[in-house]
Amino acid sequence: MKQFLTAAMFFVCAGTASAQTPGSLDALKTKPEQTNFEETSRYQEVVDFMNAVTKAAPKKVFITTFGETNEKRALPLAVVGAPAATPAAVRGTGKLRVYIQGNIHGGEVEGKESAQILLRELAQGKHEDWLKTMVFLIAPIYNADGNERFALNNRGRQHGPMGGQGQRPNAQGLDLNRDHMKLDSPEARAVVKLMNDYDPHVSMDLHTTNGTRHAYFLTYAPPLNPATDPAIIDLLRREWFPWVTKTIRDKYNWDYYYYGNIEGGGRRGGPPAERAWKSFDSRPRFNNNYIGLRNRIAVLSEAFAYASFKDRIVATSRFVEENLNFVNANAPRIRKIVTDADARPLVGTRLGLRSQLAKGETVEILMGEVAEEKHSTDGHVMELRKDARKPARMAEWGTFEATETERVPARYYIPAHLTAAIEKVRAHGVHTTTLTKALKTAVEEFQISASRTEEREFQGHKERTLEGVWTAGERELPAGTIQVDLKQPLGRLAFYLVEPRSDDGLVDWNFLDDSLVEGTKVFPIVRSKN
Ligand SMILES: [Zn+2]
Repeated sequence: MKQFLTAAMFFVCAGTASAQTPGSLDALKTKPEQTNFEETSRYQEVVDFMNAVTKAAPKKVFITTFGETNEKRALPLAVVGAPAATPAAVRGTGKLRVYIQGNIHGGEVEGKESAQILLRELAQGKHEDWLKTMVFLIAPIYNADGNERFALNNRGRQHGPMGGQGQRPNAQGLDLNRDHMKLDSPEARAVVKLMNDYDPHVSMDLHTTNGTRHAYFLTYAPPLNPATDPAIIDLLRREWFPWVTKTIRDKYNWDYYYYGNIEGGGRRGGPPAERAWKSFDSRPRFNNNYIGLRNRIAVLSEAFAYASFKDRIVATSRFVEENLNFVNANAPRIRKIVTDADARPLVGTRLGLRSQLAKGETVEILMGEVAEEKHSTDGHVMELRKDARKPARMAEWGTFEATETERVPARYYIPAHLTAAIEKVRAHGVHTTTLTKALKTAVEEFQISASRTEEREFQGHKERTLEGVWTAGERELPAGTIQVDLKQPLGRLAFYLVEPRSDDGLVDWNFLDDSLVEGTKVFPIVRSKN
């Protein structure tokens, strides 16, 4: 194995300059394809590949960037199905806009490779029917800095790529898939700007698993926050995922299912708890949950870590392909669901602010088996999926229920001096206005009964929790006060950001700490009911 790897590497080094000749898309290979799936691509190789595809299909594929990493790597974005790589050109097509993102976790490289293959296939004209209904925004290497920090064992016991892969966090040590609300990284700010500029109707975020040895080649998740527009969840859970899952099983005899991990069952000598299949988290710091709160369709995919590297790429490509087939066949409905979600009146309704996993029905989960193998270079133990499917019945905890809801107000009033909070709200694309003269008005004020921060730091923060109640009051609001009207397309997101009890908002991430010093009795942001 080692000798083969060396030969492959030599071939690549010698061949890089001439391998990517314009005009020959068929000859254009990704790094894994060039190396018999021993290696994954570096940042420059991804950029070179994308440029080569663009050069070979100049009227079809357009390339731009959508931001910069901490280490000043430009984030490449390919556009297919529009006359240019600009937000105006993309929106001007009137087609469904589909965003495909790889590598949010720098070591989870399958989406990065699969996205490059998809780009080549689109350029080759393999999916001409899709281009009638969709315009594609393809970002293979979102966490570019994390990708470049290669190590052989960055992904624990995962089976390859044998040449190693990048690390999970970005160059700041931040997990980009916990940064969608606080936007502490240039990468998260860039992707939220992309959401604001291009406004994709559908987003796919491509990952690789870390946990349970199940038998699925890939697991997936819709938005999980209970405050998500219900029609989006219904479509994904009742039609979209069942259709994709069945299609892949019928075509390839591969099983896919909702993302989960096994819990309980008395593992590791613990108490004999009931075995369960449990999903992960509902908070919008996660990509899928965040996009859901923006009233857009999000699909999270997780290739199975212990399948071979090649199978993980194939599993991701098959998943992406069938998702796109579903979108293509249902384009008018998908557009309507998104448009309706934007227009749905929220003011006066109750939305969740905190939630917990809910116990669902007993389902059959396919458990798998793995075989251990040693890495040929450093000898670390890897696991390789065996072709075993062992059905096990257990409770599914796949959805979240709100443990606390709050009535959506008509608007919030943010004092002008709370600049960190105001900038954050605006960075998300939430529309704000400014009071041009003082306003005496009935408001609701949040009376704080308790305020505490976590002892443990998480992602550079000690998350804060406020307790209290909203009471009726009256205020003279000075000119310059920032108003956030909840009757806007991003109303759900604005609510989740600003409400003081939110488990993922401005309070939680310390953006209001200066106004919440010990002894503070009233939350600095007030709201009006109507
Ligand atoms: Zn991941």
